[in-house]
Amino acid sequence: MLTTHILGFPRIGSQRELKFAVEQFWRGELDQAGLEAKGRELRLRHWQWQQAAGLRFVSVGDFSYYDQMLDTTALLGALPARFGFDARTLSRSQYFELARGNAAQPACEMTKWFDTNYHFLKPEFDHASRFDGGPQWLLDELREARLAGFSAKVQLCGPLTLLKLARVQGIAPLALLPRLLPAYVRLLKQLLAEGSEWVQLDEPILGLDLDAQWLAAFAPVYRELAEAHPRILLASYFSGVAERAELLKTLPVAGLHLDAVRAPQQLDAFIDWPVGKVLSVGIVDGRNVWKTDLDAALDVLAPLHARLGDNLWLGSSSSLLHVPTDLDQETKLGDEIRDGLSFAKQKLGELSTLARALCLGRSVCFQTLEANRTALARFRALPKRHNAEVAARLAALPEFERGLSYAERALLQRERLHLPLLPTTTIGSFPQTATIRAQRAAFKRGELSATDYTAAMQAEIAQAVAKQEALGIDVLVHGEAERSDMVDYFAEQLAGVAVCQHGWVQSYGSRCVKPPLIWGDVSRPTAMTVDWTRYAQSLTQLPMKGMLTGPVTLVQWAFVRDDKPRAEVAYQMALALRDEVAELDAAGIAVIQIDEPAFREGLPLQRADWPAYLDWAVTTFKLAAAGARPETQIHTHMCYSEFEDILPAIAAMDADVITIETSRSAMTLLDAFGEFAYPNEIGPGVYDIHSPRVPPVAEMTALLEKALQVIPAERLWVNPDCGLKTRAWPETEAALQNMLAATRQIRARL
Ligand code: GLN
Ligand code: ZN
Repeated sequence: MLTTHILGFPRIGSQRELKFAVEQFWRGELDQAGLEAKGRELRLRHWQWQQAAGLRFVSVGDFSYYDQMLDTTALLGALPARFGFDARTLSRSQYFELARGNAAQPACEMTKWFDTNYHFLKPEFDHASRFDGGPQWLLDELREARLAGFSAKVQLCGPLTLLKLARVQGIAPLALLPRLLPAYVRLLKQLLAEGSEWVQLDEPILGLDLDAQWLAAFAPVYRELAEAHPRILLASYFSGVAERAELLKTLPVAGLHLDAVRAPQQLDAFIDWPVGKVLSVGIVDGRNVWKTDLDAALDVLAPLHARLGDNLWLGSSSSLLHVPTDLDQETKLGDEIRDGLSFAKQKLGELSTLARALCLGRSVCFQTLEANRTALARFRALPKRHNAEVAARLAALPEFERGLSYAERALLQRERLHLPLLPTTTIGSFPQTATIRAQRAAFKRGELSATDYTAAMQAEIAQAVAKQEALGIDVLVHGEAERSDMVDYFAEQLAGVAVCQHGWVQSYGSRCVKPPLIWGDVSRPTAMTVDWTRYAQSLTQLPMKGMLTGPVTLVQWAFVRDDKPRAEVAYQMALALRDEVAELDAAGIAVIQIDEPAFREGLPLQRADWPAYLDWAVTTFKLAAAGARPETQIHTHMCYSEFEDILPAIAAMDADVITIETSRSAMTLLDAFGEFAYPNEIGPGVYDIHSPRVPPVAEMTALLEKALQVIPAERLWVNPDCGLKTRAWPETEAALQNMLAATRQIRARL
């Protein structure tokens, strides 16, 4: 039988068991033995699923109590020196201190894993880094799997990707190789001795733009590693590596994994793959939730199988870490949508069906194939997936320019809004207090009527408005009390979008997100925010900002249907939001903010693909924004981003005002906006909302002075750097009070 495997399985548990256990451990409610028992239970369950599905190996090394990159650095013994921990005696508590920081040291830096929403902890290396080995957790897990009778493939980040993603100070990253390689060699030998049949070394940097120096490192590195373990599977994923085909064909490793979902066309470049070596084809999507079209997959695989025989392996395109665990938990999703879905556990079954059909013939799994065919046909033909009205609007896209230039709009908006110099505002949300959450939970359980819930939320809005007026803020927000989440709130109301009950995906540490599913044509059956906003505006003479999550972000943070180009789905989303913008405008709302915090993270991995993305993403935003008349002021907000390299696109979005997160980088980002001569108004965050610390007035006046050096006063806004939902009221009011005091001081001297 053909070898089937996955590149990793989600560890969090279908009910987020790991999250709860880890958080209990942090609170001291669960001891180390209890935590580790939960870890073993989850590993065993997930391995059993893999074996029961008929996979050739179970995946070892994909488990982690926080992050597998941190585990790898610990394993190698190269912990950040600033913590002063000895890797070999690292305790679980110390491990979590590395991940979350302690009284003396901030946590390791967190960054997105390529273009996923998974955040890993950046290794920190310097000239003194040593790789003398650390805790034996990986070997323990391998033994655990072997003792339980499983064949194991161990998964590990490869040395070059590890170095490339690390923060390295005082030495060139590649200069660390002579120290790092022996550590990998040692480890591989141990893994071999402990019975790891294969070792999968992940080198996803192969799919990035790499300079010659890094590329040249692959051959010598893998020559050495291949001597330590005869069965290394070098894994690429998230983009195509066709350009590197010649290099990859000559590496001495025993096998190579290709992502045939993201980059199916790259298979052509590997058609002459050396027959004696394994070619693993990632045919089941590790990044999305849709059922694999088994017939189509078999058509792709058959010629490769004819040529490579047993040396063809079938795998998930990437680790399944990026999809929810088990579709069987989704009892409330309609069967019609379930027809099209497959989560991590279900994808295991797809792999073994593919292997059986290839080896034994399609007739052997006739029933399974037929069930797949019928379910997909039903799903594809669902009337609700195809909305003729949406198609018609898309075919004749409305105007997406605002009609007047920014300068002309600014004049009209000034007349309408009468704002002072350096207008003050906030980013949208105010503290989501325990009371608010309790009321929403009661409402969802049916214990609070819709009328009572609305009244309760209106009371919250009224309180937020009163507080802002007392503080003296110029452009108010309603505070988003009625929203549990900036994506879900809209996803629940849009047609063509579904929300799961348990579709959790790990984002970082114990945090999970539940991306909505964009499964059909997107439209807006009714207004989503207009009543709340109108109510908030009725309480004040000051301008009330309408608050929307932007179309690019709504698409980026969802699982998106794969039968249409992403741009088309984004335009549908844009048109739905455009209607909301127009309705807010018609209701007299003079300022509308369209949040796009995920605008930058949608950028493709390879620069060559950037222009196409930026083109549709900018158009998407503009399509939504152009629902407003020129005298209505459009804001956008972006956070956690390095915008330097996409400033032209941000300017092209042509929002009247952009508010950005800059306080943590002490406004260095703003220099880039200044240098680029950003043409519209801008509100650089003057304080960091991610901590409860109340910044003193002087700190904010200093930041504002700095901002004034690059942005003229007429175009400068004053605001915190993101929404305040995670904060409590006392620090929120204190910080805003200081922000307003700082603004008054600066205004006085202008
Ligand atoms: N308006 C949202 C809020 O204030 C923006 C959140 C975000 O930028 N991620 O909560
Ligand atoms: Zn933000």
